[in-house]
Formats: sequence, structure tokens, C-alpha cells
Amino acid sequence: MTSLWLDRTPVSVPVTPAPGEEYDCVVVGAGLTGLTTALLLARAGRRVAVLEARTIGAVATGNTTGKLSLLQGTHLSAIAAKHSARTVLDYVAGNLQGQQWLLRFCAENDVATQREDAITYAGTEAGAALVGKEFRACADAGLEVEQTDATELPMRTYGAVRLPRQAQFDPMDVLEALTLQACDHGATIFEHTRVHGVHSGVVDTEHGRICAGAVVLATGTPILDRGGFFARLEPNRSYAAALRVPGEFPRGMYLSADSPTRSLRYAPHRGEDLLLVGGSGHIVGRSRSPQAHLDEMIDWARTHFPGAHPTHRWAAQDYASIDELPYAGPLLPGNDTVLVATGYAKWGMTNAVAAALALTGTVLGGQQPWADAYRTWRGSELAGAAKAASLNAHMARYLATGWIDAIRSGGDGAPAEGQGRVERRGARPVGVCTVDGATTAVSAVCPHLYGVLSWNDAEQSWDCPLHGSRFAHDGKLLEGPATHDLEQA
Ligand SMILES: Cc1cc2nc3c(=O)[nH]c(=O)nc-3n(C[C@H](O)[C@H](O)[C@H](O)COP(=O)(O)OP(=O)(O)OC[C@H]3O[C@@H](n4cnc5c(N)ncnc54)[C@H](O)[C@@H]3O)c2cc1C
Repeated sequence: MTSLWLDRTPVSVPVTPAPGEEYDCVVVGAGLTGLTTALLLARAGRRVAVLEARTIGAVATGNTTGKLSLLQGTHLSAIAAKHSARTVLDYVAGNLQGQQWLLRFCAENDVATQREDAITYAGTEAGAALVGKEFRACADAGLEVEQTDATELPMRTYGAVRLPRQAQFDPMDVLEALTLQACDHGATIFEHTRVHGVHSGVVDTEHGRICAGAVVLATGTPILDRGGFFARLEPNRSYAAALRVPGEFPRGMYLSADSPTRSLRYAPHRGEDLLLVGGSGHIVGRSRSPQAHLDEMIDWARTHFPGAHPTHRWAAQDYASIDELPYAGPLLPGNDTVLVATGYAKWGMTNAVAAALALTGTVLGGQQPWADAYRTWRGSELAGAAKAASLNAHMARYLATGWIDAIRSGGDGAPAEGQGRVERRGARPVGVCTVDGATTAVSAVCPHLYGVLSWNDAEQSWDCPLHGSRFAHDGKLLEGPATHDLEQA
């Protein structure tokens, strides 16, 4: 599955890092967070390297829906329910600065953006209350929202909140421009360079060791376990499709307040406008059939937009923190040499830039006035204690049941094409699958914290239900907190 944005000839950065090379700052990850951070630091005169395990934009940023909005579904009311009015204002100020920075960057670098209204709508009567709460949270935070019953949607709705003149774009256009600008300012970007660890200023990569004054982990979820972020984040995978639709369709950027989530926008692509639909999410590795989620979302689109024909389908995941706020700061308290940014809860277009601005401030010795809302070691995390307890109880349950199910299971011939299953070989759970006519067997135990993997029938991958690591059918690491491939069985 290839996203609409990644369906292009990639920008080329052909070098591999020289072992022993020294940099002022090494940024791990070439998504929106990493490349913005790299550009800001390079502009400030720092010697910067970006190390990317796969290719630029390969993970969340190249698979997003690309709405750059301060109206974020029902996210602000969720934050307001757990935090002070001051913290809500700081979160909005960070997002506003992220949005304005990116709009300015796009204008200066000829990256096309479309200014459209963002709308959160209720698809059910129960959703109306959520929309009302979001309206109040946004209005209290000074956003110029309006309540409305009129939408462009073809289905019945139960009220909506609208924030005019937000923006949307092609996120790979943005990453390409950031790459060119960062390189112009002296940064070096290395693709196909996975980082396995960081210790005392030394970054351990698959091509050898590199020295760094400071390290920024812009890896989606942090790859180092030392700060325990994996236990404070929920990995959510969701689905998207671009569709060719006969006739008119909405111009606004829509998101449902209720479940299952439905996200809509249009996307200019090679001389035509496509309809982009997203949603039907679930916690990574905890769905029996991810393909059923994707099918259900596309069926919904076809029902409401008759004649719609999918041109691209894809999936991606993002990480939500236990107290709803993002993290941008030290991996460990009081140590500014390793910094992390994560927890954008699917609102990373504004938050990644805000995080990059906050982290750059830390590296350069400054502080953004709103940065408290992004702090990594914040007292307000107690507001998320109940969610953390439930998250970790679920993880413990999945850890135990995964192993029990694996011990009970047996093999019965090769799985059908596109299918996989976990079976026991001796004491080991083994993942067996058939892809493109070849049956392969890999360890079904995640090398991160030993969760038993589940088969993803939409993407032909092995997904971990504990912390969201994902592996290709042949065991190659795709994403998540793990840093190594699966063992061959
Ligand atoms: C379906 C979906 C729709 C979304 N829609 C929107 C939207 O409309 N608006 C919005 O604001 N946000 C949206 N988001 C959220 C947004 O896309 C993300 O928050 C944002 O892209 C995260 O950017 P990032 O740079 O932090 O992470 P990523 O883009 O994932 O970049 C992290 C990079 O780190 C690399 N990496 C990981 N581990 C290592 C390692 N060990 N060594 C080297 N490199 C490593 C990865 O390969 C990856 O390229 C959406 C998210 C999803 C899942």
C-alpha cells in the first residue's frame, strides 16, 4: 500500500555516514519533526546530521492526511478536561506558532497549500455533546470558532464546529523542501541508517559509531527505553484512501467527533482533485483483521459518494500520550544531551514543528514561552495516571494472552496467500506467513519487550500489540520502539 504522497520519485540523498565522524547534533528520524529540527539547528550554525532508518517521510509523515489545523477533532476539549486553562493556552500557542512557521516556510519555498475551513462534526446524536464541548474549549482558548448546522457533507449530521482558514498540503512536498533547505544550510541527511543505541555522546548505527554533542530522537515513539515513554504512549494505527469521485465533493477539512472516526479533505493530485478519506483506527496489533477496518472505511466512502473509486490506500500510526499533551524535551530529567519529541495524537503537522522549535530552544539555550505544555517530565502527568494504569493493564493482558495462545496453537500447512499465523515450535512462538507465493517463518516475539506479534492482513506485516513495533513479513523492522529485525525461525 503506497500513500498518495509517497507515490512519487523520491528526493535523493545518496551518502552513508563515515564512522567516527563528529557532529554538534545528530537528529534521528527524517519525518517532519526531525527535518524541521535539523533545519533550525543548521540555520543556527550547528553541524547537523540526520540519520534515517528507512527513507525520508517513510513512516507517519509520508502517510498522514496533511491537515494543518488548530481545530483538531475533539482534542482540545480532551486536553481541557485534564489540564489547567494556562496549559490549554500554551498548547494552542505552540500549535499556532507551529502552523505559522510552516505556512511561512511553504510560502517562501513554493510549497502549495490550500487554505480551507476545518470542521468537527457530529455524525450521531451522541456526538453533538462532544461538538458542543469542543466549541467551548476552542472559544475559551481564543480560537475564532463558530457553531453551525450547515455542512457540505452528503449524510445527516447533528451539529458542527468550524474554524475558518486553516490549511492542508502534500506533506512530502514539505519534507522535500525541508530536506533541500537543511542541506543548503550544511546539514547532512543519511537514509538507510538505523540507530541501535545512544551512549555518552556516541550514536551506534548500522554503519558504525558517530559522535554527537546532542541527540534528538525524532523517531515517532522514542527508540531508547531509558525514559519509559513506551509505557506512557498509546500507538494508534488508522487507514486512509484517496478516491476519484464523479461530480462535486466537500472542500472543507472534516473530522467526525464520534466513532468510527471519519476524516475528509480534498487533495490536488496530477491535475485533478481527489477525495481523501481517513479513519477506522485501532491500537496497533490488536485487531483481528486490519483489512476489515480498511474495507469498512472504503465502503463508507462509496456509500456516501456514489461512484467513488479508490486510487490509493494506506495506513499509518501515531502515538497519543496518557495525559493528551505532546512531549518535547529531555529523555531523562536534567540531561539535555538526549532529547525526544512524540505524543502528537495524530496532530503532528502543527505539533512536530512546535516540538522542533521547543527542542531547538533547549539545544541553543533558549525557551519558548509556551514550552511547559510540551515538557517531558511534567507533574501534570498525574492527570493521565488512570489512563496509564489501564494502558499498562491492557499491555500486561496482551503479553500474557499472546504467550498462552501461542503455546496452545499448532501449525496446519502453509497459510493462504496474504495470510499469517503464530504457531508453537518447541517453546517458541513462530510467525508463519505466505506472501507473493513464498512461505516464511520468523520469530513471533517482538525484540523490544517480548510481546507476541499478530498478523496484519492489510499490510502483510507482523505487529506488536504492546508498544506498536511493526515488522515486514520477512522480519525486517518497519517502525516502533524496537531497534532490531525479527530473528529468522
Ligand atoms: C493516519 C494518520 C493521519 C494523520 N493526519 C494528520 C493530519 O491531518 N494533521 C496532523 O496534524 N497530523 C496528522 N497525523 C499525525 C502526523 O502525521 C504525525 O504526528 C507526524 O507525521 C509525526 O512526524 P514525526 O516526524 O514525529 O514522525 P515520523 O514521520 O514517523 O518520522 C520518524 C522517522 O524516524 C525514523 N526512525 C525510527 N526509528 C529509527 C531508528 N532507530 N534509526 C533511525 N531512524 C529511525 C522513521 O523511519 C521515521 O522516518 C496523522 C497521523 C496518522 C497516523
